[in-house]
Amino acid sequence: MSSSSSSEKNPGQTGESNKPTTPGCIDIFKSLFISQPAHSTCACSSSLEDSQWHEKAPLTNNSNSNTDMSPPHVHPVSNEEMAEVLKKAQIDPSAWSDDEYLRVISNAIDAASTELRSLSLRIHEDPELAYHEFKAHGWLTEYLQGKGFTVERSAYGLETAFVASSGQSKSAGGLVTVGICSEYDALPGIGHACGHNLIAISGVAAALGLKAVIEKFHLKAEVKLFGTPAEETSGGKITMSANGAFKGVDVCMMLHGANADVIYTPFLSLDTCEVEFFGKASHASASPWEGVNALDAAMQVYTNIAMMRQQIKPNQRVHGIIVEGGKAANIIPDYTKSVYTVRSPKWDEVVVLKKRVEAIFNGAAAATGCKVALKWGVPYKDIITNNPLAESFIHYMGTMGLKYASKEEQQSKLSGSTDFGNLSYEMPGIHPMFNILNLDGIDDRRMGLHSTDFAGAASKPVAHIATMRASKALARTGIECIVRPEFLKQVKEDFENQTHA
Ligand SMILES: [Zn+2]
Ligand SMILES: [Zn+2]
Repeated sequence: MSSSSSSEKNPGQTGESNKPTTPGCIDIFKSLFISQPAHSTCACSSSLEDSQWHEKAPLTNNSNSNTDMSPPHVHPVSNEEMAEVLKKAQIDPSAWSDDEYLRVISNAIDAASTELRSLSLRIHEDPELAYHEFKAHGWLTEYLQGKGFTVERSAYGLETAFVASSGQSKSAGGLVTVGICSEYDALPGIGHACGHNLIAISGVAAALGLKAVIEKFHLKAEVKLFGTPAEETSGGKITMSANGAFKGVDVCMMLHGANADVIYTPFLSLDTCEVEFFGKASHASASPWEGVNALDAAMQVYTNIAMMRQQIKPNQRVHGIIVEGGKAANIIPDYTKSVYTVRSPKWDEVVVLKKRVEAIFNGAAAATGCKVALKWGVPYKDIITNNPLAESFIHYMGTMGLKYASKEEQQSKLSGSTDFGNLSYEMPGIHPMFNILNLDGIDDRRMGLHSTDFAGAASKPVAHIATMRASKALARTGIECIVRPEFLKQVKEDFENQTHA
């Protein structure tokens, strides 16, 4: 027998979920951004003093955290080092001096940069796991409220989610709503090794930029910043969306730090299944014939999936583990539990692949006489990258000194999965990956995400400056949707074409 879990709740809601967690971007980058064993790249010296960038903004610690992690190493920053990075990042204003919108955005983000740096380091130094991002939630919402946003805390059914709005809502006559997402959950044991501290402030920065332009030019538009928990486990965005968070949002965008600048790199769709077999225990020597062997069923699944791999496409994946395989060698196992993840570039291909592995699960049950229970998790869909939004972002990054590889080259890389993919099936969106290691567009695949080195990199000044730059391009792209109706029309047409292809 199989069971569906579509009506179950996620952790962080009022009930606890028994779904298998979805390995979000936990393994997003293991193929694209190959990790190396931890090595010492830290050039810090104990003689360096913390600069203003390590000072704490007057933010309130008003929540409890259940995290039991030690903060990862934070690279101390000297004033000299910061000055050097700033000098390197200097952008020729003449390149975009005629773009008044970008200038207003840039000024707004630059004015907040020191506060945002402080906020980023606070989150980085106190990493919190999925659905327990209480401190980050408190710091971010307090900051946004102080900047004049209307803030709803614990929004859309999740305690650590929020939405911060500014401008003219559609119910008040606004014409366009631009959505931005911030993430702020960390990884067990390795802290902010996915750089979500940077994603957190990138959303705030982009929202500040959009807010400044909307106010200065009296635009009939609204910016909504969504604080989205638990990207690394079971998809806070999916729960928020199901609870109506993104209703009326015309476009939704977010940034993610990486070791390369890419926007068209494909993200895989995935779903994860917990497979339980129920048999009958008996003495493994005296009366094994009286037993029904649940481990036999689990082993048949493992073997049959291994054989099936020869008949799946090179860009599809099925991988899993046996979590529980029996209690003792002299007892025929009456219970086993395995977990399998199924991935493919497009969601409809995952649906087909799921049917194939379900046949294997059910076949193993029939062959052994066991009963089987299947619990599928929270599916993460691939990202539909909106072409006009992506080209706009690339254009504005270009005006600030960054050149991208060709679309084809970016598309040739394999990647992982994120809950933002689900949003991209609901409205036009982009999820640019930006290089936090340098400002020159030079890939450094040696330092992969989800490594302790990357956690360290996410605290460095160059990462902060890269985040500010990308946030400006994201905000400017949002403004393009507001001030050029024909552009927004193209964005929506591209969305329709891609979702109904
Ligand atoms: Zn991640
Ligand atoms: Zn991530």
